[in-house]
Amino acid sequence: MLLFTTARCISCGALLTRDENALCLCCKQKMARSYMLPCTDNISEQRMGALFAVEWAYSHYIFSKGESIVRKVVHEFKYHRNPKLAYEMGVEVGAHIKDNGMMHLCDLLLPVPISWRRKLTRGYNQAAEFAKGISDVTGIEMRTDILKRRSWASSQSSRNAEQRKNAMGENAFEAKKGIDIEGRKVVIVDDVLTTGSTLAACCKALRELGDGFEIGVVTFSVDE
Ligand SMILES: [Zn+2]
Repeated sequence: MLLFTTARCISCGALLTRDENALCLCCKQKMARSYMLPCTDNISEQRMGALFAVEWAYSHYIFSKGESIVRKVVHEFKYHRNPKLAYEMGVEVGAHIKDNGMMHLCDLLLPVPISWRRKLTRGYNQAAEFAKGISDVTGIEMRTDILKRRSWASSQSSRNAEQRKNAMGENAFEAKKGIDIEGRKVVIVDDVLTTGSTLAACCKALRELGDGFEIGVVTFSVDE
């Protein structure tokens, strides 16, 4: 049986074994963990809290500028058609959620949607692949039909300037009307937390459904 493949590690260039995807085990272990605790004053909560009153936020890795391994991983699952890697990272973060007393914070995962245009070119939504990995290992329900991106196409052709403006920025998302998530512990899931504005726009859309549910945030990484 052939142990190695012809694929190489995206970070160090070593040949990968059949069990490795994109990263060799050695580089995987060097990825910069955040070691943050949810429900504390961590950097992700601070950044989110400045934009929207979320109950808690957690990011598993630190996405540094420059040549960090975490940055290469995000780049790989975002731009190199490697949804499996995003899924695998979700499995890893899901195991962490399960093993570190975070299960009571989450019972509904909502990945940040990407535009249909981007989905068409990329072929998948990396945030949804990541969330599916978390869901499969924890058993927490995931739904992709509740949060939607507002349509740009129709806003450009038939709506007025005000409506076009609303289709961007803080009004970029909408939540499915009539959905009942009362009492749920909703978690919005994304790959990277940078300014937090995208996640805050999702929170805002969800809050239009009511205030009888909690909103938390989980991301694969947080930009330093
Ligand atoms: Zn490597």
